[in-house]
Amino acid sequence: MSLREQLCEYGQKAVEQGLVIGTSGNLSVRQGELVAVTPSGVALDRLTPEMCPIVDIEGYLIEGDLQPSSETPMHLAVYETTGAQAIVHTHSVFGTVVATTMTELPPVHYNALLLGGAVRVAEYATYGTPELAANVRAALDGKQAALMANHGGVTIGATLEQAFEATRLLEWLCEVYVRGLSVGRPTILTDEQLAAVIDRSLNPPAFPRRTP
Ligand SMILES: [Zn+2]
Repeated sequence: MSLREQLCEYGQKAVEQGLVIGTSGNLSVRQGELVAVTPSGVALDRLTPEMCPIVDIEGYLIEGDLQPSSETPMHLAVYETTGAQAIVHTHSVFGTVVATTMTELPPVHYNALLLGGAVRVAEYATYGTPELAANVRAALDGKQAALMANHGGVTIGATLEQAFEATRLLEWLCEVYVRGLSVGRPTILTDEQLAAVIDRSLNPPAFPRRTP
């Protein structure tokens, strides 16, 4: 599947799963020095492959009639400093709730480790600016996900599928935390508990085979 077709597929999924509304949210996927990105001003479930611009890693438009998403500078900045091959940015509800009220999403569930543990909230800056790109880049250091203050979330992956699944997980973790706060005080996993999870996943016990 071409890079542009992937954007259409995951754009559709992002809308279907309620992760974005209207023309909010943007996705990109990289191949070598080229990045296919969703266009500005088009709802993610209305994309066709030709609508998706292709830019080079320095931000020059290579192909496409529409303007790249206004958050393209943030995507390019993230590609510059991470090994990411794909990026998903949404304004999903629970992610945005956490991003407007907290400075980080603490690890209340061990699956947070799949995103690198606690998720930082990048300091607020106007959308599309180099300041926001720099803040997001700092918040992503060593992580697969970051939240953007008063804005939304961003996740990275080796493939668009991975980045998209990271966005779904980020939203789920934020929802669990926010709902947890409405019931009581969510318990935050300790470093020791998280280390034990990593150890367990690296050394899973093998089930003994019953021999007749
Ligand atoms: Zn945004």
